[in-house]
Amino acid sequence: MPKIFYNSLGTEEMYGLIREVMPEGFELVTLETDEDGERRRKIGDCEVAIVAAKPIDTSVIEAAGKLRLVHHQGVGYHDTVDTRSLVKRGIRLALTPAGTTTGVAEHALLLALAAAKRLSFADSELRRGRWHINSLRPVSVEICGKVVGYIGFGQIGQATARRFKAFGATGMYHDPYASHDPRRDAELDVRPGDLEELLTQCDIISIHTPLTDETRHMISYEQFAMMKPTVILVNTARGPIVNEAALVDALSSGRILAAGLDVFETEPVDPNSPLCALENIVMTPHISAGTIDALKGKMRALFANLERFFRGEPLENEVKLNH
Ligand code: NAD
Repeated sequence: MPKIFYNSLGTEEMYGLIREVMPEGFELVTLETDEDGERRRKIGDCEVAIVAAKPIDTSVIEAAGKLRLVHHQGVGYHDTVDTRSLVKRGIRLALTPAGTTTGVAEHALLLALAAAKRLSFADSELRRGRWHINSLRPVSVEICGKVVGYIGFGQIGQATARRFKAFGATGMYHDPYASHDPRRDAELDVRPGDLEELLTQCDIISIHTPLTDETRHMISYEQFAMMKPTVILVNTARGPIVNEAALVDALSSGRILAAGLDVFETEPVDPNSPLCALENIVMTPHISAGTIDALKGKMRALFANLERFFRGEPLENEVKLNH
């Protein structure tokens, strides 16, 4: 029975969810502590390692005498897997793009709605006995009738547009690499535009690009200066796409209306960060894709790939490493 090592420390409940969708014939090897010593001891018998957000240490790969495949639970392997040590040992690498689109798209909408009504502030104030029945009215807006700008229009950008459309919003996207598809655009009620047009015309701006050299600090002082003062910024992609100092400046000076963030330049966020002192912001701890449904969807796709692997068939979403 192939042993599959799970590199992140989870809870018994989370391991239970994985085992629920794991096909018969596999054994899941899980951790009880977050110690690399335990990892090195347990990975020794395993042919496959599943890696999620927790990077797999090179010493753990070196201790994995039987390891033949590292399967990432998501797609972000650049900062979690040392591919040079995989190449050295002839270990293959595959990714799991499935499973995250819906969770992130729903979360973008959640953050936009929550920021539009200052949900975090209203909730925490209510718990302190402060009843903002009228004071939030001048800073609260609706989604219906607004123009949403999507920076990056791949899987998640499009899924988000589908959801905003249901709320009565129209859209514009900036994505120099996306295919032009007028039928899709008509169906989603969106149109392509350049970045400047998007920044100056949209009421809600939602970021859906990967973090690359080109997108790092793509939204900074200059871009905030171009936005309407009524803009809500939503970031569910990667923190460093937005210059956080510029965002704090824009939010605290009233340059923009509000923001909803699931990702940050430094995670976890320091409670002393100036972000935490702002009323016009809603923040979540990188949980856009952290749902039961996403985990099960990912694990179904991942174990289907492991079945291919053990049948000797070609893998889906394999990263071609220079062996
Ligand atoms: P995708 O590859 O389908 O779409 C990304 C799009 O960004 C592509 O269409 C690409 O052309 C576009 N793009 C690349 N560079 C750009 C640029 N400079 N300007 C404008 N557009 C550009 O990926 P996806 O599945 O839609 O995911 C989008 C991003 O969401 C991921 O890269 C990841 O950073 C993030 N994500 C976050 C979470 C989370 O938990 N918060 C989970 C999954 C994904």
